[in-house]
Amino acid sequence: MISVEEALERVLDYVDVLEPEQKPILDCLGQVLAEDVYSTIDIPPRDNSAMDGYALRAENTRGASESSPRYLVVVGEVAAGYVPTKEVRPGTAIRIMTGAQLPEGADTVVQFENTDEVGRKMSGGDPSHIGILCQAKKGLNVRCRGEDIARGDLILKAGSVLRPQEIGVLASLGCSTALVVRRPVVAILATGDELVGVDQPLTPGKIYDSNTYTIAAEVSRYGGIPKILGIGRDSVQSLTEKLDEGLDADMLVTSGGVSKGDYDMVKDVLAERGEIGFWTVCMKPGKPLAFGVMNKMEEGREKRVPHLGLPGNPVSSMITFEQFARPAILKMLGKKILAKPTIRAVIENDVVNTDGRRIFARVSVTRRSGRYHASVTGPQGSGILTSMTRANGLVVIPESSKGVKAGDMVEVQMLDWGGEQGEVKAVPTVSIVGKSQSGKTVLIEQLIAEFKRRGYKVAALKHSRGGIEMDHPGKDSWRYAQAGSDAVLISSPDKLAFIKSLDHDLGIEEILPIVGPEFDLGLVEGFRKSTIPKIEVHKKELGDALLCSPEELSAIVTDGSLDIDIPQLPWGDLVTVADFIEKNFILKSRGSAYLSPRGKRVG
Ligand code: AMP
Ligand code: MG
Repeated sequence: MISVEEALERVLDYVDVLEPEQKPILDCLGQVLAEDVYSTIDIPPRDNSAMDGYALRAENTRGASESSPRYLVVVGEVAAGYVPTKEVRPGTAIRIMTGAQLPEGADTVVQFENTDEVGRKMSGGDPSHIGILCQAKKGLNVRCRGEDIARGDLILKAGSVLRPQEIGVLASLGCSTALVVRRPVVAILATGDELVGVDQPLTPGKIYDSNTYTIAAEVSRYGGIPKILGIGRDSVQSLTEKLDEGLDADMLVTSGGVSKGDYDMVKDVLAERGEIGFWTVCMKPGKPLAFGVMNKMEEGREKRVPHLGLPGNPVSSMITFEQFARPAILKMLGKKILAKPTIRAVIENDVVNTDGRRIFARVSVTRRSGRYHASVTGPQGSGILTSMTRANGLVVIPESSKGVKAGDMVEVQMLDWGGEQGEVKAVPTVSIVGKSQSGKTVLIEQLIAEFKRRGYKVAALKHSRGGIEMDHPGKDSWRYAQAGSDAVLISSPDKLAFIKSLDHDLGIEEILPIVGPEFDLGLVEGFRKSTIPKIEVHKKELGDALLCSPEELSAIVTDGSLDIDIPQLPWGDLVTVADFIEKNFILKSRGSAYLSPRGKRVG
C-alpha cells in the first residue's frame, strides 16, 4: 500500500504540460496563458474625463466657492467617443461627459454638482456661461493617458490563469485571440456487466452507469474535455476494444474493475497492454486504484497514454478523481496550484479511523461566528452517492490518527471552491514531544540554529501553563490589558508582540494560522494531543516506554534503540534529524520537484 502523496507524485510524473494553441479569448476561460502579453497601445489612449462636468483650467477656479462663483464662458461640448473640436482657453470651459477626451488647454474637470448648471437651467439662465462653485486642484477628475496600461508594458505573464478580468484586459488591448495551453482530452470508460446507459431500460440485475457522468462533469469542471467511451464489459476483449478508442486522448480514466473480484479485469488489461503503476493506496474510500500507461503506436513511434483506473463505487471514484485525476488535469493545463483549497474547521461528529488509512469523510461546511464547522453528511458507504450531494467538503483524517472527536479542529478540502486563489498554505509544523528531562528544549534550540543555517525561516511555538513572560505588571501594555483591552500590541523598530485575551486554551491548529505564511517551518514544543506531526525525544535512562504510541509519531530521536517500526534518529546527530524534518515536512509541502534554500535539487 502506498501513501496518497506517493501515489499523486507517481501520477504527476507521467503527465506533462500540453502544447499551446491560439484561440478566441472567450474560449480561454480558466486556461493558462502560454506567452507574455505586452501592450501595443496606451489605456486610456488620451487624457479623458472621469465625470460628467466642465473641462477647464484649474487656475480659473482659484478662490471659487458657493458664495463666490467663478464664471466661465462655455465654448462647446464633447461626449464620449468624439474628438473635441475646440480648445479651452483662459476664462472658458467645455461641457464634457464621462470618458470623453479632454480638450486641448484643459487640465481639470469640475463635476456638474460643483457648478451652477442645474440652478441655471431651472431658472432659464444663460447657457453660454457657467458658474464654478469650488476651487479645483489641477488634474481633478482627469484620467491620464496610459494610467492603466502604458504602451510596451508587460501586461499578463505567461503562466497566468485567464479569469474574466484577464479576458477583459486582453480585449482592452485589442486581442481577439490568445495563446493558451491546450485543454487535455480525457477519455472516460465505465466498466461492469451490470451497467446500462441512462437512455436504456433498467432490466433485472442492472444499474444505471452514473460514474461516466460524474467523471465527465468533473473533467469539464476542471478544464478538460471529456471523451465518453461508453461502457466496457468485464472481459479483457471488451475492455481492450473500448480502451483502444480512447488512446488518442491525453489521459484515460476508467471506473470499476480494479479490486480483487473475479471479474476485475482492468488491471489485467493494463498489465498486458502497458505497464501497471500501482493499485492500492492508503486511503478510504478508494483503496483499490490502478495507475499505469497504455502503449500505442503512433506514426511509427510508441506513445504512452496515462491511465487512471478508479474504483467502481460512485463515491470512491469521485473522491479518487479529486485526489489524482484533478491534479493531473491541472498539471496538463499548465496550472501551478494543484492542491485543493483547504480550510480548518471544527468537526461536529466523532470520526474513527480503525484501519490506519487516510479518511476522506464527506461533510457539509458552514461558517458560524467567524469559524467553519464541518458536519458529516450521514452514512458514509462508498456506494451512497447522495452523501456527496449533501457535501461541500471532505474532512481529511491522517492515517496516523485514530480519529477525531466532535469539537476537534480538522482539515477540510473544499469541493466547490475554485483552486486559483493561491491560498495561504499552512506552515509545515512538527511538534517535539517527550517526557520531562528528555531534552526537548535543547533539541528545539539546536534545530532552530540548524534550520537557520540552512536558510529557512523558523517559527518556534511554546505552550506555557503559567501565563506569559512578557505580560509584566506595571508595564504600559499590562496596564492597557488591566483596563480591559482585549488585545495589546507592542511594536518596536524590529519586533512585534501581540497579546490577546482568550476564552479558551487554543489548540495548535487554531494558533498556526496566526503565525503567518512567511515561515518555512514551525517547531512546537508539546501539544501532544494535537494532530500535527510529532517526533518524540527518548532518553534511555528514562525507560523504554514512550510518551506517545508509535502510530502517533513520525519518528523518534533516541540515544538507544527501541523495538518499534518507525524511523529512529540518533540523539546527537543533529544533521540527520534536521535532514529528516527537511525532507518529510518542509520539502514535502512544496510539491514533487523542489529546490531547498541551499539550492540542492531534491525529490
Ligand atoms: P467494481 O470496482 O467494478 O467492483 O465496482 C464496485 C461497485 O461500484 C459495484 O457495486 C458496481 O456495481 C458499482 N459501479 C461500478 N461502476 C459503476 C458505474 N459506472 N456507475 C455506478 N455504479 C458503478
Ligand atoms: Mg465491476
